[in-house]
Amino acid sequence: MPPKTLFQRIADKEIPAKLVHEDELCVAFHDIAPQAPVHVLIVPRKAIPRVAEAASEDAAVLGHLLLVAGRLSQSLGLAKGFRLTINNGPDGGETVPHLHVHLMGGRALGWPPG
Ligand code: 5GP
Repeated sequence: MPPKTLFQRIADKEIPAKLVHEDELCVAFHDIAPQAPVHVLIVPRKAIPRVAEAASEDAAVLGHLLLVAGRLSQSLGLAKGFRLTINNGPDGGETVPHLHVHLMGGRALGWPPG
């Protein structure tokens, strides 16, 4: 078995995090270094490294992450809008090699991103 990723350890509650959602496919928790008033990470339990390495069999879990993001946007009070971001690889700003969706909101977000 490969060593657990940081986010698997959070999902397994070996490392503390402020969880806002968990189900059989994913967990969601507040980012440790928030870039917006609301900044939550939605993470599949399966350690898919990044979008570019997702497989056809991952389609359901990938879709599930977006559905959870939409529901969390409501429960977290983001009716005015929010942004979903997935960083992939060094140029994309990926720092944790376990696929995750950033859900950010609570202020007007600039565009384009840096
Ligand atoms: P990436 O840069 O890979 O797209 O996003 C990784 C995110 O994980 C960053 O926003 C970073 O702040 C967050 N992060 C890194 N380590 C931890 C941690 O131990 N706990 C939590 N809650 N977030 C983390």
